[in-house]
Amino acid sequence: MQISTTANPTPVDDARLAEILANPGFGTYFTDHMLTVEWTPDAGWHAARIEPYGPLTLDPATAVLHYAQETFEGMKAYRHADGSVWTFRPEQNAARMVRSSQRLAFPELPVDDFVECVDALVRTDRRWVPDSEGEKSLYLRPFMFASETFLGVRPAQHVTFMVIASPAGAYFKGGIKPVNLWLSETFTRAGRGGMGAAKTGGNYAASLAAQREAIEQGCDQVVFLDDQEFRYIEELGGMNLFFVHADGSIVTPETGTILEGITRASIIELAGKLGHAVEERKFSLDEWRQGVASGQITEIFACGTAAVVTPVGELRSPHGVTPAPASTELTMRIREALVGMQFGRAEDTFGWMHRV
Ligand code: PMP
Repeated sequence: MQISTTANPTPVDDARLAEILANPGFGTYFTDHMLTVEWTPDAGWHAARIEPYGPLTLDPATAVLHYAQETFEGMKAYRHADGSVWTFRPEQNAARMVRSSQRLAFPELPVDDFVECVDALVRTDRRWVPDSEGEKSLYLRPFMFASETFLGVRPAQHVTFMVIASPAGAYFKGGIKPVNLWLSETFTRAGRGGMGAAKTGGNYAASLAAQREAIEQGCDQVVFLDDQEFRYIEELGGMNLFFVHADGSIVTPETGTILEGITRASIIELAGKLGHAVEERKFSLDEWRQGVASGQITEIFACGTAAVVTPVGELRSPHGVTPAPASTELTMRIREALVGMQFGRAEDTFGWMHRV
């Protein structure tokens, strides 16, 4: 893919950048550049370019604003101690965007082009990748949207793919803290035949009312149940779940209506290599509650790009509280194995790291 570059004539100066990278927060600051590629039926993917970061001008009738035809990805670039910059399994994000694109009736952006676009933006804004101290990183947000000016419900004939980047601070400041969860007994996130497995804005819009409830209850994240029986655990608003049993076996809810997390897939492989039997199957709310009460479940953790791996604390619902299991031993071991690889402290035995 040919990518042209127009350098930002007024990049953030070094002093200001150092200030931002010292305390980046999350999703607040954006780098000096952005990448854009257009698609039309006749020309295919074309006009790939890196330009100064800035607002888009959209016609009010742009299709995405009305019918939410869009999909996105979330990934990170990490700086190692020697200054080199790496991403984690970017081809998996690319492949997931292809699957999301199929569900959202978008054209497919080839995996190699996706990775090349992300690499190109990271190289251009390399100075924005924080150093690894405190587990900071550069969060990368590739996204695709229906950019055709047209009011009508059909797949857009003009599609735009973009990549933007935003420095991200450590998810946990002052030590890892378990996430408390709110069980949504009112709202589901996804249903059979729906878009649950796609990374599309609509799924997050569907989660917000439940997320608001969770915040009102002093919880960090929502646990969503299946839409048929409100009985089986699906996932959190932005993370997947794992249940560790006393015999060392691990269960994670099966795919279908959940987002197939890249952290989740990596943990399934990693835990297998550590000698744990990992099962992907339906896992019920009763199993959770009874397993914790009986001591059969020894650890529960959540995972995703943002927090990597985090112990699960209490599960709260209108019908009572399920306490956190006592242990976090395997949780922390898996966390360190992944984070160590991402920041270059541990050997990349799986070949998961991609040098930018
Ligand atoms: N589930 C949902 C709903 C998410 O938004 C995310 C974050 N992308 C995840 C799971 C975890 O996915 P990943 O490990 O690829 O970040």
